[in-house]
Amino acid sequence: MANPKIKSSAQIAKKSNATAGRKPAAKSLYSKADLEEIFRRFSIQRPEPKGELEHVNPFTLVVAVALSAQATDAGVNKATRALFAVADTPQKMLDLGEERIREYIKTIGLYRNKAKNVVALSEKLITDFGGEVPRTREELVTLPGVGRKTANVVLSMAFGQATMAVDTHIFRIANRLLLAPGKTPDEVEQRLMKIVPDEYLYHAHHWLILHGRYCCKARKPECERCVIADICRSPEKTWDIPAPLVELPAQIVGANTSS
Ligand code: SF4
Repeated sequence: MANPKIKSSAQIAKKSNATAGRKPAAKSLYSKADLEEIFRRFSIQRPEPKGELEHVNPFTLVVAVALSAQATDAGVNKATRALFAVADTPQKMLDLGEERIREYIKTIGLYRNKAKNVVALSEKLITDFGGEVPRTREELVTLPGVGRKTANVVLSMAFGQATMAVDTHIFRIANRLLLAPGKTPDEVEQRLMKIVPDEYLYHAHHWLILHGRYCCKARKPECERCVIADICRSPEKTWDIPAPLVELPAQIVGANTSS
């Protein structure tokens, strides 16, 4: 079996120069064929990536995602199971009232503020949207406690829309691999939406999160375990032989994707 070699920075620089002439896709260092291959391999590793936050309808998903900021998804699920059993619509949530909502979610960080937001967003859903969760990002971000990332998670998980909720892992990978470099999450989101092949767009954010969490880790990327090591153009890459392409055991992605 071939003996993989650790690459020196001189070799990395030489390789970067050698590949610099290849036709890049819009806003990316990678060709269309490279991008197809990267996401094809991710799709084989994880055919059906799933979200972790429990919910019973779009409304409870909005609430769960809003509660998940700076909290673990497991912790949110523990609290919302009982809450959603008694309040799974904006009206029932209002009837429950802020004080009792606080009681249900008091194990979650920042629960006082979050209880306020749950009441305020329930009110707004009733007054402005007929009690239904809106299906556009522009409308979703008008709800208290709902930012662009939350809106993207809701559009994807509740309504099956292809969105790119840029979390810490996606932001790092997009910049580290020079895949869709950007100074802000919004910039990265726009570039990824342009370069990810259409057929892979729906699951792309989960694949990138999982790749970042389990392989291309923040402190030290585990390049020798990476299935795209031969395609990756990161200056931080330390290995260029791809890991065997096999389906991995199921790993769950939550809306709180900072871990
Ligand atoms: S080769 Fe290394 S740097 Fe490139 S994507 Fe894989 S783990 Fe990350």
